[in-house]
Amino acid sequence: MSTTHRHAVVTGGAGFLGSHLCERLLAAGSRVTCIDNLCTSDGSNVDHLRGDPGFTFVRHDVSEPFATAEDVDLVLHFASPASPADYLRLPVETLRVGSVGTWHALEAARRTGARMVLASTSETYGDPQVHPQTESYWGHVNPVGPRGVYDEAKRFGEAITTAYRTAHGLDTAIVRIFNTYGPRMRREDGRAIPTFIAQALSGQPLTVAGNGRQTRSVCYVDDTVSGILAVAGSTLPGPFNVGYPEERSVLDIARAVAAAAGVDAPIEFIDRPVDDPGVRCPDITAIRTQLGWEPEVSFDDGLDRTIAWVRATPPAGLAGQRTAPAEVRG
Ligand code: NAD
Repeated sequence: MSTTHRHAVVTGGAGFLGSHLCERLLAAGSRVTCIDNLCTSDGSNVDHLRGDPGFTFVRHDVSEPFATAEDVDLVLHFASPASPADYLRLPVETLRVGSVGTWHALEAARRTGARMVLASTSETYGDPQVHPQTESYWGHVNPVGPRGVYDEAKRFGEAITTAYRTAHGLDTAIVRIFNTYGPRMRREDGRAIPTFIAQALSGQPLTVAGNGRQTRSVCYVDDTVSGILAVAGSTLPGPFNVGYPEERSVLDIARAVAAAAGVDAPIEFIDRPVDDPGVRCPDITAIRTQLGWEPEVSFDDGLDRTIAWVRATPPAGLAGQRTAPAEVRG
């Protein structure tokens, strides 16, 4: 079912997921243009791709219009602050890139007749009243809470993507990505797994929000990227949940990180963020039955690989500083 694309544009391509997507697309023989304004990354995630003749990096804010080459046949719109620390720091920019930025990505795809894939999120389900979350669930989001800037930007992105499909016949797809972890996450970005790993490896207590009983389902990055590319390589519109359908409490995730890191770290309970979802678990029946995708990397394996990467990577983000409190958010 999957296709090789001639030339893919990846907005947000220098970020965590975007850089893995650029790498996999290049390996599959596509040319890749990465467009990123480096607002939540520093470009180092794609340093190893810069010598590849098929790779082009363009520093640009996609909330401003952008042009692409005529031969572009895939636009992956991944630009957006994604961790709570980032989108709470950049609330208006987050709303702009999810709305105007998505509109520009759709227009770019329309000009060349490309397929456009929107990176949406499990956060469109908000604090869900349906569990596990199926794509038919409309969600439970607080538009005026602090996280509304991210959740509503993504919900608007889904609406305008759908409108371009119906009004202009554009070939579009929506992926609702659940919490993903793995190499190249910034240790200081506030998301739970890199935070717990950074804390465990530097001898700090692991900061767990609330009583830690809220649940999350975390997917290893290689699996998430395969799921996204399976959708990109099809002609199906989705929305498709992409995630690991095994639920764990945040406290269990913290304990598992400490065990995998081989440390006996104490747990420190901290305030729960406003509107923090109580449960989170994807129903992946749609993508499994329609595209044959499901995650393959177990939680234990994924944690080992991520910790090995953190140990082997210069600790720029660790540098003796106390890490931010952990949250698990899409
Ligand atoms: P990230 O912060 O590592 O990467 C985002 C990239 O987008 C960064 O390189 C940033 O500089 C760039 N960017 C932000 N605003 C931009 C703009 N206006 N113009 C150009 N570039 C811009 O985040 P990530 O975890 O890789 O997330 C990538 C996408 O996937 C986001 O859209 C996010 O909402 C979505 N997502 C991620 C997860 C996850 O668990 N990682 C879950 C759900 C959805």
